[in-house]
Order: sequence, then C-alpha cells, then structure tokens
Amino acid sequence: MTQTLPASGYIIGVDIGGTKVAAGLVDAAGTIESHLRVPMVSNASAEAGLDCVLAAIDSVLNAVKNREDVRAIGICAPGPLDPQTGVIINPPNLACWRDFPLAKKVADAYHVAVKVDNDANSAAFAEARWGAGRDYKNIFYATIGTGIGTGIILDGRIYHGRTGAAGEGGHVSIDYRGPRCSCGKLGCIEVLASGPAIAKRARAKLAALSSSKSSELLSLAKGSMEAVTTEMVGKAYATRDAVARETLRETIDLLSLWLGNMVDVLDPEAIIIGGGAATVLLPLFDQISELLPKYCVNPRAHEIAVLPAHYGADSGIAGGAALCYEAPRSAHLSH
Ligand SMILES: [Zn+2]
Repeated sequence: MTQTLPASGYIIGVDIGGTKVAAGLVDAAGTIESHLRVPMVSNASAEAGLDCVLAAIDSVLNAVKNREDVRAIGICAPGPLDPQTGVIINPPNLACWRDFPLAKKVADAYHVAVKVDNDANSAAFAEARWGAGRDYKNIFYATIGTGIGTGIILDGRIYHGRTGAAGEGGHVSIDYRGPRCSCGKLGCIEVLASGPAIAKRARAKLAALSSSKSSELLSLAKGSMEAVTTEMVGKAYATRDAVARETLRETIDLLSLWLGNMVDVLDPEAIIIGGGAATVLLPLFDQISELLPKYCVNPRAHEIAVLPAHYGADSGIAGGAALCYEAPRSAHLSH
C-alpha cells in the first residue's frame, strides 16, 4: 500500500491458523466490532485454502451496511512469509501454500489494499498502535502460548530485518545444553517457558514430590499428573500451592534472563507480554521488572515498563487490521 489510511471507516482483520480462519471488522480506533471463525483447509490445494480465507472475509463483509466503509484488509498468517510482497513462503502448518501470493489474490478479489505479516509482528503492531504500547515507539512484544512468538517495534514500525525473518525471539537460546526445541535448536526460550513447557515443568515437580505431601495442583488434575495443564498451574498458584509457585517462579526467572538479553540488544521503552499462558504469569509480572536489572547491563533497565497485552484471543484480528495503518516504508529504504 502506498498511502496512509484515513482515520475513519473500517478494516477487516484476518487471522489465519492451521485449522481455522478468524476475521473481524475493526474500526480506526482498534475496536473489534464483530468477529467470526470458519474452518481452514490447510492440507488440500492452494485454492481450497484461499477459499476458506475468502469465505471468512465475505461473512464479515455481508454484515457491513456500506461496503465502501471498508478501506483495507490486513492478514496475519504463520511464517515464513514475505511481508513486503505478501507471499506466503512455506509454513509447516499451512501445507497448502508454497510461495503463494496471498496479498495479491485477496486484493484481486476485493479491490482494496491488502497487507500480510506474521502473527507476532502483527499483534505487536496492534499493541503499539492501539493497545498497551500506544504511548511508546520502541517495544519488545512476546506472546506466550503453545509457542513463544515475538515482534519488535522500532521507532513506531515493525522491524523486519533484511528478508522479513527478524523478530524470532522465541528461538533465541538461553542454554546451549538445554532441551531440543521444535525448530531444531537447543534451549530456545520457547522450549523452556511456553505454555506446554510450564505444564511439563509442573508435572516433573509433581513426579519428584514425596508421596506424603499433598498438592492442590494434583487435586485440580484429579490425581492424574498427565492431566496437569498450564491453566491448572495458574489456579493452583492462586491457592499458594508450592509446586505451582516453584514452577512459575522458575519460568519467570528464565523469561527474565531472556528478556534481559533482549533489553541489552534493543533497549526498548516497554516489554508487552500476551498470549494464553501470559494470563497465568500475570501475577508475577512485577518480578520480571525486579529481575531485569540483574539480567542485563542496561543501567536504566528498571525504567522499562513490563505490561500485559491489551488484546487477548483476538490479537490476530486486531493485528491484521493494524498492519493497514503502518506508515509506508520511505522510498530510499526500499529496493
Ligand atoms: Zn526454537
């Protein structure tokens, strides 16, 4: 897109995952007016995958009184992808698309500007424009859920790097002898502190617990260690359960070490943390602020705001929409 959008009208934000497409109508202030979900067919033809996306957009459009009010469509999708061209390269969980020109296909169908970026970059930008980061220009964003995704906002723009591959902070390792991550590397923060990693850590502690000790966490899981979820760890933490407290304290320590590294590289004004598992960690955010100065050399790390994300499960819809408001790259920077 070549021009900045007017501060009125609506954007359609689309969030493509391996099994569903979520789409919603978002106003210029970042309020999600409506949203819906349709199934995604990610293992058939490229066109079948595209049809799911178009079906989601059509459903949102059908509920809009005046279609002229829809100014643009912003899409977040799993990477790798090229945010400049809107081409989806080869995401492992979207087997239907290989070098697929998603932005062009959607623009051809609706004749509006279309922007595409990955989930975490998009969600980071929504936080910067409308959410917890709206008072800041330099932000490190992390979404902690099934994995750990990150986005870097520098001077009010998404930092993409040379090819669009920057901002993969979840695969920054903090232990070269650590467990193997799904990406192949050892000791990535994702394999140590994502939602599933929190549940796994708690299970290991329960397994090591002497049988004479009771645990609220184990009661929540009805006595079955295998049934322990991240959410249960959060509930047990609220009852001061020792296993849950130790699990979350260790997780916060690892995250703070990792965030300290990010602070030393980026010196951001704010760190914003979202995603499903962030809700569980929320009562311990203050500890991250306290630990950060210990884990970096930045003499003013104590001033960095550590904030919960504004957007929750709908961060992909807001993120997609926000992309349409990103200022165009200046001509001398593109090639
Ligand atoms: Zn990794």
